[in-house]
Amino acid sequence: MKRTRFPGRPKLTRDAERLGRLAVSLSEAGSRLEDRFWESRIAELVVRLLEAGDEAALESTLDRLWGSSPRGYDRLIDIVEAHTESGTLEHRGVDYDVLMIAAPVLTWSRFAIPAAHIPAGDMKSLRAHLQGHVLARTARLSLADFLFSPDQLPRGYGNTLRFARRLWAGAVEGRDVTMGSQELPDTQRFLADTRYLLGGVAVPRGGAIFRWQEDDGSRAQALGQWQTQAGPSLQTALRGCAFELVGPDAYYSAWRQADRLSRPYSLRSAADYVRSTLEVPPAGLRAVVAPFHDQQLEEYRIAFTLKEKGEVTYGVVWPLLGAEDEDSDALKSIESILRECGIADILELEHPFPLEYCDDCGAPLFPSPDGEAVHAEMPESSASVPTHLH
Ligand SMILES: [Zn+2]
Repeated sequence: MKRTRFPGRPKLTRDAERLGRLAVSLSEAGSRLEDRFWESRIAELVVRLLEAGDEAALESTLDRLWGSSPRGYDRLIDIVEAHTESGTLEHRGVDYDVLMIAAPVLTWSRFAIPAAHIPAGDMKSLRAHLQGHVLARTARLSLADFLFSPDQLPRGYGNTLRFARRLWAGAVEGRDVTMGSQELPDTQRFLADTRYLLGGVAVPRGGAIFRWQEDDGSRAQALGQWQTQAGPSLQTALRGCAFELVGPDAYYSAWRQADRLSRPYSLRSAADYVRSTLEVPPAGLRAVVAPFHDQQLEEYRIAFTLKEKGEVTYGVVWPLLGAEDEDSDALKSIESILRECGIADILELEHPFPLEYCDDCGAPLFPSPDGEAVHAEMPESSASVPTHLH
């Protein structure tokens, strides 16, 4: 499955070529024993490239394999992600397995969603809930004291590994990681967005990391307890926002799960926002859904209008993820969520739109009922925050 990565500038080096050959060999291996042989050679090279900051060799190899050897691509990206988010560490004579984890939060607000430091008291209770409900009993935890927006997450594998090492050092030493206020870029403003709590976990070599790996634990129970108990500890950091907690997990897994769940969440938030801003019941709204293409289908865009009116008041994007294409269930999901929100007037346009954005503000253009790609504008009279600044 193709995964979300930050784009790099491909350039074929000797390391990239060797890495590609090793990945293809791994994909053709006939036994676990041979798997391990190739895996350890790939891992050695991957870690060397990450430490040297040679992201381009990794990216170009992955891009090439995506076209030529999908199985090689899958095997390689698994190894790259594994050596970015996990490792081993020796501290005071004890060997630890270490893992970077994320606890994503889906959130929306008609005001700006904060990306900010977490107050010390809330850090203490978040840590207690993670240790009590989500992590194994012997796990040591270090949390970063910040709620990261997607554009504040470490960019690329090398930076992610460097940040993970900072968290792991904190975990074995039993302290949290304090983020400097100058350390993170400003974040863009969206109606609905994801925030991430990031942490490092260390367990004695070979031990359970999560509560659900222990005999009396389960994933469903851990998630349920995290969702009901940790919410209040995020209320200060997310003042003025509605939010929903996604299950904490290994960094890349949690990230992908949040990407999947944020689509229905954003759509529901948008419907709620339009309904309350225009002060009409859902039955007074219409949704226009259309496919948007670049080389291939990239996303669906959903526009909201008042019923019987042509002006698009607001829009939301439903991106395709991973290997999803025209055959995915996206349209069905979009329609059923709109219906759950009480919007029964749904116009599905079949002809593909080009992936267009506003030249001035960069906002995506949305499908009008007449089949044009237009800028969404809330009517002047509605008492909303401006969603459009030119
Ligand atoms: Zn614009």
